[in-house]
Amino acid sequence: MGRYHAAVCRLCRREKMKLFLKGSRCYTPKCAVEKREYIPGMHGQGRQKLSDYGVQLREKQKVKRIYGVLEKQFKFYFRKATRSKGVTGIALLVTLERRLDNALYRMGVAASRSEARQIVRHGHVWVGGRQVNVPSRQIEVGDAIEIRPTDKMKERFKTLFEQNKDQKTAEWLAIDPAHFKATVKRLPERPDIQMPIQEQLIVELYSK
Ligand code: SF4
Repeated sequence: MGRYHAAVCRLCRREKMKLFLKGSRCYTPKCAVEKREYIPGMHGQGRQKLSDYGVQLREKQKVKRIYGVLEKQFKFYFRKATRSKGVTGIALLVTLERRLDNALYRMGVAASRSEARQIVRHGHVWVGGRQVNVPSRQIEVGDAIEIRPTDKMKERFKTLFEQNKDQKTAEWLAIDPAHFKATVKRLPERPDIQMPIQEQLIVELYSK
């Protein structure tokens, strides 16, 4: 699967906001958005006036970057959201929030969603007693997400839990740090997603 491999801080600078892609560094003065408040590139410090289309495009890019999803998969999520009963924009965000890598990040096991994705890919995660190595797996109510019981890397996860314990975790998860486990109490809802996102702009973009 394709992935973005260049410097991720450029993505935050492009969106002119912290997207929290790098873990603990994002909370320090070393954060690139804090050091350089202009967009990257030769004309980054020039005047920028966006058209309506530009504003909508930037909103879509921002959400893709927050969740680490590429265009093809993002469009798939959007099409799925249009077929759901509720408001399309909200359904899109909830679908992204229900990804297994995001749930792991919300548990506090990983400092960023990309780290969570790697933990899943490397087979350290069990859902409902079975190994799952698909980061896009949609979590369901009642799912028990845990770090593989026999995992030799428990010490590392212990450290990660410790490091990330102040990170804002999700209310839709019942987290049991002692057992590296969380149970999905309910599905995430719009108020659970606290990044400043205007999902309606994405719906307008794809509706053109
Ligand atoms: Fe973004 Fe984190 Fe880099 Fe800051 S440190 S620019 S929030 S990825």
